[in-house]
Amino acid sequence: MGYKNVCLNCNIAFSTGMDYNDVRESNCTQCNEQMILVNHKFKPPKKTDIAGWKLVRFLIEKGLRFGAAYDNNHVRVQYPKTLEEAKEFVKNHKAPFPVIR
Ligand SMILES: [Zn+2]
Repeated sequence: MGYKNVCLNCNIAFSTGMDYNDVRESNCTQCNEQMILVNHKFKPPKKTDIAGWKLVRFLIEKGLRFGAAYDNNHVRVQYPKTLEEAKEFVKNHKAPFPVIR
């Protein structure tokens, strides 16, 4: 368990460690922008994977934080793998999205 901080400027993610008393958003060590706290299950794309990071940015902007997601019947759903799937996903899974768990 734990959380990750993501910087959408630099396309990088940092683990924040295991200390739940010390979970907070912090600033990127590279560009000093505020980073976004996401679930530890988040797997960052490779730095060179532009499409992958586009998808990550899209999902984060829609409020997703990569925690477990469930549909209206409480069935666990998989996160989309492409931007096209992601657009369908946010259409079908309206906010409030599951946040960090
Ligand atoms: Zn940065």
